[in-house]
Amino acid sequence: MLNAGSSSIKYQVLEIPGGECVRQGSLENIGVGGPADHEEALRIVVGEVGDLAGINAVGHRVVHGGSRFIEPTLITAEVEEHIEALSALAPLHNPANVAGIRAAKKAMPSIPQVAVFDTAFHQTMSDAASTVAIPTEVAQTWGIKKYGFHGTSHQFVSRKASDMLGGDPDQHRIITTHLGNGSSMAAIRGGRCIDTTMGFTPLQGLVMGTRAGDVDAAIIPHLIKNAGMSLSKVETMLNAQSGLMGLAGSSDFRDITSRAQAGDEAATRALEVWAWRIRHYIGGYTALLGGLDALVFTGGIGENSALGRQKATEGLEFLGIVVEDSLNTLRSGDARLVSPSGATPVVLVIPTNEELEIATQVADLVGEAR
Ligand code: ADP
Repeated sequence: MLNAGSSSIKYQVLEIPGGECVRQGSLENIGVGGPADHEEALRIVVGEVGDLAGINAVGHRVVHGGSRFIEPTLITAEVEEHIEALSALAPLHNPANVAGIRAAKKAMPSIPQVAVFDTAFHQTMSDAASTVAIPTEVAQTWGIKKYGFHGTSHQFVSRKASDMLGGDPDQHRIITTHLGNGSSMAAIRGGRCIDTTMGFTPLQGLVMGTRAGDVDAAIIPHLIKNAGMSLSKVETMLNAQSGLMGLAGSSDFRDITSRAQAGDEAATRALEVWAWRIRHYIGGYTALLGGLDALVFTGGIGENSALGRQKATEGLEFLGIVVEDSLNTLRSGDARLVSPSGATPVVLVIPTNEELEIATQVADLVGEAR
């Protein structure tokens, strides 16, 4: 599978079924000192992979699939055009994804190329959940609605959670909490997403490393009119200088927690604001799901920070949500239970694996799983 960014490409070669990663690598600084462009980068990737005879398909991570792409899709010329057209909705990501696709097609012309979209899993949201309450005509003309992102991760960990719960997966009510540099949550009933915290772009929802998450939209014109800030300055502020960075000067959660534990005021406050937003959504999603069977933590913070999980669930005992200290502080790379045995809902830590999820979906599509 290939994950092409504007100046980097990451790849993994995975065996499906089984899921073993037999080769992986990444190329950085494309166009800025490293490979000249995505084409040259792909030639290097193909060189590193070696024998292409064993490669059945290439899966591309594509950030925005709009309303049109709701499942993994074989990339034809028409599909490529549509992904490119969706750049208006994801200007930071889709153009790089398209560059990766074009380069891969050139470097491996006889191998099927498949796009797997970050938005796809969320397209089961109801109209009520995904509608932005601006005039309908404006929303329709400009494609404005909640799309949601991190879909492959939410799908992967929710399926694992369902396996761990046992019983009838159609009945399972699960909240997945993906906490990394970018963070989002999803409410999932019977394997289908009913709501998620990211929106039209990945800016909405939780307090993230550098993104503000939910803000009153009126703040934007207020700053432009009164603080003399340009629109692009406000955009940069909300995406790159806010969240934990804006509150405590660092986007690194390890840094925030160690400073908070040492009594640093800004870091303590950042942690409280961060956790408040997560708890707010846990409560809201439990209501929308009509109850809860499993709360799942994943992503760099969700998988590794015992303090993060503890703060994010503080005071939710009335919902049955409890993390057991002795289990929560145990370090492990495995999927595991951190709530007391017998408690419902269960609280789980499940390491995500978006690469494996993409490869599995691609193998299902091309029907050549070996
Ligand atoms: P990305 O969204 O870029 O994929 P990750 O999922 O890798 O990011 O998450 C990065 C975040 O995870 C950082 O804020 C980092 O500080 C945090 N993190 C990683 N390891 C730990 C740890 N052991 N304890 C606390 N936070 C951690």
